[in-house]
Amino acid sequence: MTEANTGSSPAETYIGRFAPSPTGPLHFGSLVTCLASYLDARAHRGTWLLRIEDVDITRCKPEYADDIVATLTAFGFMWDGEIRVQSRQTMQYEAVLRHLIESHAVFACRCSRKEIADSAVDGVDGPVYPGTCRNQSIPFAGNAIRLRVPATRNCFDDRVQGKVCQELASEAGDFVLKRRDGLIAYQLAVVVDDAEQEVTHIVRGADLLDSTARQIYLQQVLDLPTPTYLHIPVVTNSDGQKLSKQTLAAAIAPADASRALCRALAFLGQAPHPATTNAPPAEILSNAITHWQPDAVPKQRSAPEPATFGDSQCTSKLIT
Ligand code: GLU
Repeated sequence: MTEANTGSSPAETYIGRFAPSPTGPLHFGSLVTCLASYLDARAHRGTWLLRIEDVDITRCKPEYADDIVATLTAFGFMWDGEIRVQSRQTMQYEAVLRHLIESHAVFACRCSRKEIADSAVDGVDGPVYPGTCRNQSIPFAGNAIRLRVPATRNCFDDRVQGKVCQELASEAGDFVLKRRDGLIAYQLAVVVDDAEQEVTHIVRGADLLDSTARQIYLQQVLDLPTPTYLHIPVVTNSDGQKLSKQTLAAAIAPADASRALCRALAFLGQAPHPATTNAPPAEILSNAITHWQPDAVPKQRSAPEPATFGDSQCTSKLIT
C-alpha cells in the first residue's frame, strides 16, 4: 500500500464559500459553519461566495433556498458576486462525467442498495461497495456511475483537525458520482463547483471530514487544484445528535440574530470582545473579523450546543 500526501500549500489568493443545502431553514449548526467560513475569508481579506447545493432535488426546495438567503441577509452576511445554484449546473457535471467515462476512471453499476448492504462491510459512510460491477461492461445509461478508487492511504492536513488519513478502497470504496435515478451525487458536484469557482479555502462542518479524502482524490483524477481545509466541530443537541432537520433543530430567527451570533462565536472558541448581545449583527460580525482566531476553534469533531445568552457581553469561550 502506498501513502499519498494530498495536502496542499497555502494559496496566495483566498476564495472561500458557504454551501448550504436547502433542505430546511438554517439552524444553529448551519449558522456556526456559515460564520466560521465568513470570518476566515474576511479576516484574510478574501472573497466569500454563497452556493446553494440543491443538486438532490428530491430533498431540496426553492422556498428553503429563498429563506436561507433572507436569513443570511438579516444576519448581516454579505457575499461576493452571484449566488451559484447547483441545479442550474447539470451540463457542467455531465461534461465532467463524460470525460471520466472516456478515460475509464468510472464504471456503471446496477446493484441495488440491498445487494450492496448484504455483501458489504461498514465504512465511513455506510456499506463499502464490494466492487461487484467493477469489471463488467455495464452500459452507463440508466445505471449508477462509480469512481474507481485505489488501495492507497490518502492524507491531508486539516487546519483545525490536524492530519487526517483514509484508506479509500477499504473505508469508502468506489463511490457514486451519478445515482441510478439520474441525479448527480454531492461528491461530484462539490468538486466541480469548488474548481469552477476557484475556491482556495474550504471551511465546513466536521461531518464532511470523511468525504474530504474522496473529494481530494477526485480532484487529482480531474487534474484540479486541492484547496486547504478547515473542519469545525459539528453542533450536537442534548441527545448528542447532530443538529439537523431530521433531529428537529429549531430555525434561527432574524429577530434573535445578535444573540445567535454571540453563541456561535462562543461555540467557535472565540475570545470575548467589547460588543454586547444588544449590538447590531453587522457590528458583531465586523468585530469578530478583527479578532478571528482559527487556532482557537476546538479540535473536536463535535461539541454540544451552548446555552442561550442573556443580555451581556458577546461571547465567553464555552468550549475548552
Ligand atoms: N451542502 C453541504 C451541507 O449543507 C455542505 C457541503 C460542503 O460544504 O462541502 O451540509
